[in-house]
Amino acid sequence: MNNHTLHSKSWSTQEASKHYCIDKWGANYFSINEAGDVVVTPGGADNGPSISLYEIAQEIEMRGLSMPVLLRIENILGSQIKLLHETFRKVIRENDYRGVYKGVFPIKVNQQEQVIEAIGQFGENFNHGLEAGSKPELIAAISMLKNRNACLICNGYKDEEFIDLGLFAVKMGYQVFFVIEVPGEVDLIIERSKYHNITPTLGLRIKLSTQAEGQWAESGGDSSVFGLTMSHIIDVIDRLKQEEMLDCLQLLHYHIGSQIPNIRDIRAGAMEACRLYEELVKEGAPMGYLDLGGGLAVDYDGSNTDSHSSRNYSLEEYCSDIVESIITVLDKNDIPHPTIITESGRAIVAYYSVLIFNILDVSSFEPHPIPATLPDVDSDLLENLMTTYNMVSAKDIQECCNDALFYRSQARQLFKHGHITIRERAQAENLVQHILIKISEFSRELTHIPKDVQTMNRLIYDIYYGNFSLFQSLPDVWAIDQILPTMPLHRHLEKPSRQAIISDITCDCDGKIDSFPGIIEKKSNIMLHPLKPDEEYYMGVFLVGAYQETLGDLHNLFGDTNVVSIHVNDDGSYKFILELEGDSVADVLSYVGYDIRAIRTRLKAQAEDAIQNGLVSPHERKSILANFEEGLRGYTYFEKQSTTDI
Ligand SMILES: *Cc1c(COP(=O)(O)O)cnc(C)c1O
Repeated sequence: MNNHTLHSKSWSTQEASKHYCIDKWGANYFSINEAGDVVVTPGGADNGPSISLYEIAQEIEMRGLSMPVLLRIENILGSQIKLLHETFRKVIRENDYRGVYKGVFPIKVNQQEQVIEAIGQFGENFNHGLEAGSKPELIAAISMLKNRNACLICNGYKDEEFIDLGLFAVKMGYQVFFVIEVPGEVDLIIERSKYHNITPTLGLRIKLSTQAEGQWAESGGDSSVFGLTMSHIIDVIDRLKQEEMLDCLQLLHYHIGSQIPNIRDIRAGAMEACRLYEELVKEGAPMGYLDLGGGLAVDYDGSNTDSHSSRNYSLEEYCSDIVESIITVLDKNDIPHPTIITESGRAIVAYYSVLIFNILDVSSFEPHPIPATLPDVDSDLLENLMTTYNMVSAKDIQECCNDALFYRSQARQLFKHGHITIRERAQAENLVQHILIKISEFSRELTHIPKDVQTMNRLIYDIYYGNFSLFQSLPDVWAIDQILPTMPLHRHLEKPSRQAIISDITCDCDGKIDSFPGIIEKKSNIMLHPLKPDEEYYMGVFLVGAYQETLGDLHNLFGDTNVVSIHVNDDGSYKFILELEGDSVADVLSYVGYDIRAIRTRLKAQAEDAIQNGLVSPHERKSILANFEEGLRGYTYFEKQSTTDI
């Protein structure tokens, strides 16, 4: 009997939407269709066609690519860039702001060639540019950016080579801004620009006293390692005046952190920066550009609050607060409104990738049936547990909960001291499990569930083993407790009956997902469907387009996943525009220093020794080596096809 199945009468896609909160975090891109599949609508709020992610997952496997797969829905990038620009334009118009908005994409958020290429393409009409923080990023940016009206912002520590690269980009007609991050950079920039006889456009990165809440609080405020202090700013201005280069200073930049959950901090940062902007104008710098950095947050948990994984503002409020802050400060002294630049990374790319994986197995919280007669044990342990089990009722719930935990620890003590056997202990733990489940069922009838019981209810879950590595594909879940929405891609007409958490296949106890979006607060487990024998159970982790790909690592030597990009056409058809095979076993071994040829040589020698020792035949050696070969070529994740038989 399936004890902790929720006794369900009905279930609808609306209830499924509510349970997984997809109606909250889906942001018009993700929802559930009438067939009970999760669908993506790449046009977002503009509507347009929707396609089933379940169908896509099946099609990917039919084409021979194994799970896990990182699916990119290309059009979403276009939709997000358009949304950002149109919202700024609307707010600018409504407020009679006398300047324009220009965005740049910070390459570090997702450096993949295909991503940067798509941003160049979709951003073309909006003059959306790029931000680079290192030499490789700058070279990538110059090679990808065609639009000479788009900005190219150079942040980060710059050596001579970095500066030269930027200066050559200036010569080729790009709108390059050299942002001075540390006082020492200014001399080198002056020297290199004189040497090449190229006039640079300069910006200052300032250290604001405004410190944003959230995960990246330290990026801003006094503890920030980046940016110029007030005295540094004065030094730079004086230095530029001395060189008669003050007219190069046109931009002011700050970045107070990523994923800023509270709009109050966005406004405070903008106001403070505008005061500094005003002072720079008064000092005689031409200025013209205000670059407010990143920070525009993504509502990962759908709560629309100032929690770390959310934001308490809409995109329109974000744009309005920036535009209004600038007007408020600068209009007092009739200072012309600057071109607004933001470096939104996360908000542009998060929605565009979904990690899709299959469930390999379930470790169920399902006790064995209670035996008709209990074995005779010296102590009263099993009888006491049986009595507790029979006693469970809504009114005794707290007491039974205490008893169950007491007897469980007694069983463990008795076992430790050799008083009961492993079979007896198993019996005891099995009874405890029955009690916990019974308590959990009764607790559903209560309006107030005691805290201990709530805690215990959360311990009743199945472990669903997903074919993925958290460390490779979802590093922020592990590193900073980021909530990323996770749910099955299909079967949403069926009521999910199993309370579950999801484990990856790295054998690391941290490799699990046990935080999920909830309506009131985050949930430590979600409801899933029992597996069917002949059907894959596909799940998706959503909103993974920002930061996850490059921050991921080779923990347990699980490598890059397969990547598939799709483009959805207006008529609802779609095409696979790119398939990238993930790392093979040989690839990841070579990343950590193994020479694959040497591995082959050694394997051959080992197999030869086995022949010499009479353990295998020459024919078996051949099959064994063929299997090793196939193993080296294979995917690092769980694959379905079997290897060659010996
Ligand atoms: C990381 C970073 C960004 C991107 O921030 P998001 O919150 O992802 O938009 C922008 N600018 C700078 C300087 C950064 O370091």
